[in-house]
Amino acid sequence: MSRDLENETRELRARIAALVEEAANNERLLKRSQQRELDLLKADNLRELFEAISKGLLASYGLEAVTLLLCDPQHEIRHLLIADHVSTDDFPNVIFTDSMVGVAPQFNAFHKPWLGPYMGCDHQLLFPRAESLRSVALIPLRRNERLQGSLNFGSSDEKRFSRHLATDFLAHLGVIASFAIENAVNRARLVRSGLTDFLTGWHNRRYLHARLKEELARAQRQGSGLTCLLIDLDKFKQINDQHGHLAGDMALREAAQRVDAHIRDSDAAARFGGDEFVVLAPGISPEQAGALAERIRAAVCESPLEIPGGKSLNLTVSIGVAGIVLDRNHSDLKAAAEELLAEADAALYRAKQNGRNRVELA
Ligand code: GH3
Ligand code: MG
Repeated sequence: MSRDLENETRELRARIAALVEEAANNERLLKRSQQRELDLLKADNLRELFEAISKGLLASYGLEAVTLLLCDPQHEIRHLLIADHVSTDDFPNVIFTDSMVGVAPQFNAFHKPWLGPYMGCDHQLLFPRAESLRSVALIPLRRNERLQGSLNFGSSDEKRFSRHLATDFLAHLGVIASFAIENAVNRARLVRSGLTDFLTGWHNRRYLHARLKEELARAQRQGSGLTCLLIDLDKFKQINDQHGHLAGDMALREAAQRVDAHIRDSDAAARFGGDEFVVLAPGISPEQAGALAERIRAAVCESPLEIPGGKSLNLTVSIGVAGIVLDRNHSDLKAAAEELLAEADAALYRAKQNGRNRVELA
């Protein structure tokens, strides 16, 4: 073999070896990025998704910062989180905005990932807690032609995200992330709709049972009491019978609104069924509970309700009030919940027996 040929063969072998190594490398990268995408898609709820994005992506890409900006003009996502007992404080890397305009100049025409140097004046709102960033990738999250937010990567390496890099795989990640977000939001909506009463917009009985146990556990931890008000419209069947079901619905809605005006944020309220409502008020004394029930009773009958046809209805409610204080050794919260409701029900029964439009304490 001539020396030239020998050299050429050696060179070719080296090139093949390099190509094989590159292919193996690419396969590893592909597998890893597929795994990350699967982690996003597997998230069952918003909390898991936020974890997968803010912690999972940060670790697997070895970045200094990952943030998720979500456009939430109706505050719906934030309300869904509250309903799910997720505090936004737990996810400082998830940022909510009412409008994308003004958050970063790149969002004005934002159809594909933007890679480039970190500029404090442009990107500070996207990375509120990050120091020492040198380059960033901003990935649009779009669903159905709508900009839903952005996924933002920050690196301390100025060459990590530069304008010349291919952005295909980041765009792909953006599509997966927006799909996963939409999915988690839809799921949260569904769960919530299963806990809401359509007519009044109040929580329903299912929600109340879950919340009652939580409130009892909290009261037990804090060594405080929990009060339950069981509120039932008086002679409601007559309204239905005399004025029709629609007028009955109006009366239910109106009564719920009048009660609602006297409930604090820390109270829990639900339509318990038919014409019955429950209010749980933590941390108030029996005297305060009696006064609250009296205010609610007075508010419901304060003025007649106008219904179509020029008629008006006088609404009144009867209310049974019961309270419970659990010592630390009490372990059966389910039994305690049933007992509290039964006592409120017995008090309500007495209120009906004693002439309606009145409050009775257990
Ligand atoms: P009382 O003073 O003893 O409570 O008498 P009442 O007539 O209110 O008796 P009760 O609470 O048993 O009647 C509840 C009625 O509410 C019976 C049911 O037909 C009606 N109802 C239940 N759900 C709805 C609803 O969503 N809309 C309407 N319009 N009526 C409902
Ligand atoms: Mg009734």
